[in-house]
Amino acid sequence: MSEVYTTIIGLEVHVQLATAGKLFCGCSTRFGGEPNTQTCPVCIGLPGTLPVMNRNAFELALKTAVALDCEIPAFTKWDRKQYYYPDLPKNYQISQYDLPMSQHGYLDISDPKGGFEPKRVRILRAHLEEDAGKSLHDEIAGKGDSLIDLNRTGTPLLEIVSEPDLRSPLEAKTFLTELKLLLTYIGVSDCNMQEGSLRVDANVNLHIDTPQGKVATPIIEIKNMNSFRAVERALEYETQRQWREWQETHRKLGDAPKQTRGWDDVAGVTRGQRSKEESSDYRYFPDPDLAPVTVGPQEAETIRQSLGELPAALRKRLEADFGLSVYDADVLINQGRPVVAYFVDVAQATGDSKAAANWVTQDVLRTLKDLSTTIEQLPVTSAALAVLIRKVRSGDVPSPRAREVFQAKVEQRIDAAAALESLGIAAVDESELVALCQKLLAANPKTITDVRAGKTQAIGALIGQAKKQNPNIDPTRFRKICLELIEAGQQ
Ligand SMILES: [Zn+2]
Repeated sequence: MSEVYTTIIGLEVHVQLATAGKLFCGCSTRFGGEPNTQTCPVCIGLPGTLPVMNRNAFELALKTAVALDCEIPAFTKWDRKQYYYPDLPKNYQISQYDLPMSQHGYLDISDPKGGFEPKRVRILRAHLEEDAGKSLHDEIAGKGDSLIDLNRTGTPLLEIVSEPDLRSPLEAKTFLTELKLLLTYIGVSDCNMQEGSLRVDANVNLHIDTPQGKVATPIIEIKNMNSFRAVERALEYETQRQWREWQETHRKLGDAPKQTRGWDDVAGVTRGQRSKEESSDYRYFPDPDLAPVTVGPQEAETIRQSLGELPAALRKRLEADFGLSVYDADVLINQGRPVVAYFVDVAQATGDSKAAANWVTQDVLRTLKDLSTTIEQLPVTSAALAVLIRKVRSGDVPSPRAREVFQAKVEQRIDAAAALESLGIAAVDESELVALCQKLLAANPKTITDVRAGKTQAIGALIGQAKKQNPNIDPTRFRKICLELIEAGQQ
């Protein structure tokens, strides 16, 4: 087979906006309430009720659109999308069809591990719509019943649709990770996938080079993926499945209707569900109950200025101004703004961004995880960590014991001086170190011969002996003094 294929992936992401109330009524959007306790005549679709747009939801949607560099039209409207769903009692969903509130933006992605070339993924559109409720099947064991919870009905969702610019499951996963980072940085959503605040549908097909020219396989939409890893796995599976199907059937785009397949995370397979509806099936028409929304020319600009530093700019600054590796910058940024601010404080206070990055990405993050706490609650403030780093540099704290000091500060909430005292750490002055070196070199003449023959690693044995005699010895300083003494012939 000389045929080669390209994987074509586009994503549709539904993000629940972090508003207290629903999109067209004041009911709470809180997760986990008793079923059907967060409803009213508007969101359960009783006749005669009138929806009123939640301005806060629209503002969060605008914020997202601006952060994605979308065009914001001056005028946008609401449309009814008709379908029968048991968990949407109005029998239509209020959405946006031909005039979405934003379109034509982009999101740049790159992989710190170099799995693909950095690329710009175009955003086709982002529009607002209301969520449906939730059907619960067979909750009362064996009864075969179906129950409906309408708490979620009417919750504001922003649907973000990418162009089919993604070329691998890894690119798709990276896009989602970067999008989630952006959304959480600007505070428009908690993006909690377990609670359904972020849901992803993936469209995928293959473009195959054949001796007769390029051929596209039918587009498959995959649903039911509960994590970014699941999205990646589902796309990997579906790519292979479509390639196998092509080899067996040579079925092309146009030969089959667009199909929806559900991802089974346990079995690791996608399964056919239904033919995909075309937009004409939904009989969209403008919602007569809702006024169109206008956005003033200055509004987008005002929002742009209020966004703060976005992750992409922050990543560049950490790399350019603090010399961080792409990997370290990524680790910090993924922890959120407060951790980045902590790092910046430590780096600026010590003038040593390498040491600051090492401490924050290792001991600090591990401690936060172990204690299940936040950086604001960490007993070691950025100023206190800066003091510790300076003490290591000045030799007051031997570097191998710095971690113990950090731990003591975390556990006992004491300052550096008290931690040093409780651990019995005392600075070893230069003369003590020289004396110890001389003593050990005199007792180990072979070490001197070895070092003179170029085997400087022979010093290692002496360092071990020195630490036994005084645990406060700084191995780096000790090693340096030994080498200098041997070189000067003063041992
Ligand atoms: Zn309501």
